[in-house]
Amino acid sequence: MSLRLFNTMTRGVERFTPLAPPAVSLYTCGPTVYNYAHIGNFRTFLFEDLLRRWLETSGYRVYHIMNLTDVDDKTIKGAAAAGMPLVEYTRKFADAFFEDCGYLRLRPAHAYPKATEFIPPMIRLVEELLEKGVAYKGDDGSVYFAIGRFPAYGKLSRLDTRELKTGASERVSADEYAKEDARDFVLWKAAKPDDEAVGAAWDAPFGRGRPGWHLECSAMALDLIGQELGVDVLDIHAGGIDLVFPHHEDEIAQSCAFTGQDDFARYWLHGEFLTMAGTKMSKRFGNILTARDLREEGVDVAAVRLLIFQTHYRQKLDFTDQALDAAREGIRRLGDFDRRLTAALGGEDGVPFRAAAESFRARFTAAMDEDLNAPQALAAVFTFVRDANRLLDEGAAAGPLVAETWAWADGVLDVLPSREHRGAIEIAAASAGAGLGSWTDVPPTDVAQLEAWAGHWAGVRVAAKAERNFAEADRIRDLLAEHGFEVRDRKDGVVEVVRR
Ligand code: AMP
Ligand code: ZN
Repeated sequence: MSLRLFNTMTRGVERFTPLAPPAVSLYTCGPTVYNYAHIGNFRTFLFEDLLRRWLETSGYRVYHIMNLTDVDDKTIKGAAAAGMPLVEYTRKFADAFFEDCGYLRLRPAHAYPKATEFIPPMIRLVEELLEKGVAYKGDDGSVYFAIGRFPAYGKLSRLDTRELKTGASERVSADEYAKEDARDFVLWKAAKPDDEAVGAAWDAPFGRGRPGWHLECSAMALDLIGQELGVDVLDIHAGGIDLVFPHHEDEIAQSCAFTGQDDFARYWLHGEFLTMAGTKMSKRFGNILTARDLREEGVDVAAVRLLIFQTHYRQKLDFTDQALDAAREGIRRLGDFDRRLTAALGGEDGVPFRAAAESFRARFTAAMDEDLNAPQALAAVFTFVRDANRLLDEGAAAGPLVAETWAWADGVLDVLPSREHRGAIEIAAASAGAGLGSWTDVPPTDVAQLEAWAGHWAGVRVAAKAERNFAEADRIRDLLAEHGFEVRDRKDGVVEVVRR
């Protein structure tokens, strides 16, 4: 385990050492559920998926939290326009998001906290900041964080005072006169009629209102890592590059003022933008493409993953049809090789194949350990495919080591064509019943047990269908989908559960 990562805090590539190995806490800022997430957002989530998978492959036990922002200006505006309560409006997009995560083969997080479900910890955080004197109530009834009373402010973004001012006023729509300093940001917004109309207001000792966006992440992260791991500092906090300022800067201020720690996260990782014809993909610019657009066009998601991993996460990536076509060709080659290799396996590993597999593994590991250099890891994959094809032409023997190495690399990148589902859990209708083991709706945090959990629910679903309880069967299908599994009823009566 000699992983090195670029830490935005120090602007350098550093050796990764978690607080309490092999445990690693990972918090990734999730989507704002007011619309369908676009593939720009998913570029960031794919970079985080790569990080998560490489940590796990390296032997770390990751506790991954991804929040859903389901209360902010945009969600409230959307709900009001649709004439719906906030929770109902956001649920549709949260469900769509989980569906898209399944399509994109993102390894499910262990917790998906929604902001509206964590209001009490947010209130506690604001109360404490008020008590400590780093927050104050403005004339408009909102509560603000006083940047002037937190000397470390600005250490992540390293912006000068003038830039800090611009950023703060851009994000904070509240009345500037209510604040002591233009740079101060809102922790808790006093309730307005629009908020009340959609059910986005909560009582708090310091006044009825709703949380500010930055507060949500701090409160949810601290609450969950406190409960799960008994710590108050994250190992890794990740997001897109636009979150460095003000979002992450403000998270640091609130969290560190609250915990008294020097850091909120030991490593800050940020992914670059996905662009279209050179412009950042953004709803604001009207140049978005969603995961469902791609799915409806019949694009195999393996090609999307390959396309995205072919560029290092800290470099801009311009999404073009040509690049997607090239990625489609790339996964076709990988799929062809996978079939050929699978057919050739069976015997012992011959010396040449053993050497090829070992050198492949070493190159792949070196690339990923150096700040997740996926383009180089992919180059190692394609070199191995070329060498292995030549060895197969020569009739060389490939055995368990080769098979294991190939599956190991695929477990990290997951770029084989979709029809190549290996490792599916199969449940014969006859053997289904109460399920396998005793599980609840909540999936296990230990990923090694996730398949057993999915197998259990698939079994329960088969039994429900046999009793013609289709509502329950559908509920289980959705539950599994939410956690990245697809259930398929095969003609031969066998039910397949596939990790998407
Ligand atoms: P949002 O739903 O706006 O809160 O954004 C969710 C995540 O997507 C954040 O981590 C953003 O930094 C990231 N993001 C937004 N636009 C892009 C883009 N064009 N390319 C890459 N990441 C993006
Ligand atoms: Zn966040």
